[in-house]
Amino acid sequence: MRYQPVIGLEIHCELLTESKVFCACKNEFGGSENTRVCPRCLGLPGTLPLINKGAVMLAAKAGFATDCIVHNYSAFDRKNYFYPDLPKAYQITQFESPICTDGHITVHGSKNIRINRIHIEEDAGKLIHDDYEGVSMADYNRCGVPLIEIVTEPDFRTIEEVQEFVEQIALRLKYADVCDARMEQGSMRVDVNISIMPEGSSDFGTRAEIKNLNSLKAIGRAIKYEINRQAEILDNGGTVIQETRRYNDNHGDTKALRSKEEAHDYRYFPEPDIPPVLLSDEDISAIRSSMPEMPQQRFIRYTQDYGLPNEDAGLIVSNREFSNFYDKAVKINPDYKQVSNLMLVELNRNLNESEKSISDISFTPADLAELVKMSSDGIVSKNAAKDILKIMFDNGGKPMSIAKNNGFIMNNDISGLEAIISQVISENSDSVASYKNGNQKIFGFLMGQVIRLAGNSANPKMARELLTEKLK
Ligand code: ADP
Ligand code: ZN
Ligand code: MG
Repeated sequence: MRYQPVIGLEIHCELLTESKVFCACKNEFGGSENTRVCPRCLGLPGTLPLINKGAVMLAAKAGFATDCIVHNYSAFDRKNYFYPDLPKAYQITQFESPICTDGHITVHGSKNIRINRIHIEEDAGKLIHDDYEGVSMADYNRCGVPLIEIVTEPDFRTIEEVQEFVEQIALRLKYADVCDARMEQGSMRVDVNISIMPEGSSDFGTRAEIKNLNSLKAIGRAIKYEINRQAEILDNGGTVIQETRRYNDNHGDTKALRSKEEAHDYRYFPEPDIPPVLLSDEDISAIRSSMPEMPQQRFIRYTQDYGLPNEDAGLIVSNREFSNFYDKAVKINPDYKQVSNLMLVELNRNLNESEKSISDISFTPADLAELVKMSSDGIVSKNAAKDILKIMFDNGGKPMSIAKNNGFIMNNDISGLEAIISQVISENSDSVASYKNGNQKIFGFLMGQVIRLAGNSANPKMARELLTEKLK
């Protein structure tokens, strides 16, 4: 039988606040075990939580970044469960009244994925299992790190839709400075809910939930495995049970963690120690107007106002620092297409070869803008511009002085070039004869000889025209 997969996501994102969500401990990745803790985030009796305003702001920003409604009223609840990574034995979360609801993101250009809600909660600690010693150790540094959880409707039908959505969420949260969205470090973690139904049906099947996927690749593999596993059950006349499963990256498979019958009864109730979060209309519109330009808006600016091809615009936007660099360069030299070409091809080549990132290169967007202008004004050739960029990249320096010091300023002296061409023609009579007999390919060789003698400064266009003329 052919089946239609149905997928919904729950995405946890760590917020980029200075301190934790209910205490003053530092919110930072890493650090020695149990050094960033205090009586509050250790859940010691008698302590009281105090809500971090910054976390509320960032959660609201996440809402605006995903076209949600940000609510004037939201409130916290206690989710009770006992597990050693949670010293209080309850997690403070928003259950009944989340801060944001009813958002959406478009994938594949036109498919709308609805976001049910975004709520604020606290992260739990980490358990480190030492199989050798046969013990588990608890690190509570992550306890009380502020999270948002983004919950979608079950609107996905393919792996590609899921992956594009996750990429878009990550990019938007980075642009808005809400979350650094480093899946490999766990600052963004994806739970995938998946069910299948016979093709053509509209009755959703029973879902399994795969927890804590930490790369796009793992998401793809886990979904694929899960579709096959569930299809095999149904094909054999069985029924899929609702359960939580863990993905194993080494095997590419998923294993049951707990079924619905074993599921926790969380006994949610309103958190008595934290008053509701109240945002006035003014507060909300102030947060809205503090939003920077989002990647999807930037994409439209690049394609519609600047005339860049979709693919180029997408590549630039997909890295915020790269895109900021581009924006600064085209502000100085609005040659949108040429600046984009030089960055996407040559600058990217240098970045890839050096493994540097755009934020630590030694020249400025203004330098790049000037280099593009030098090339379009015919002061240096296109090839020379690439060489100059490489020198700027390796050693820093200003494009004009690099061009002067290295003989890159284009020589437009026709008679000098003519003399060189005559010399090349007389020294390569065999090749010239072959060319005249119809061997077009040999032209490149002759051009190469001309450029070799004329040096970096040769005007290649002029050389090509003169050589063609002389060979007639
Ligand atoms: P619960 O209240 O049991 O946690 P929710 O309605 O909140 O369930 O859904 C949790 C997640 O599961 C959401 O991401 C949602 O999109 C997804 N989901 C719900 N039903 C299905 C289904 N039949 N197949 C796949 N995903 C589903
Ligand atoms: Zn603390
Ligand atoms: Mg749920």
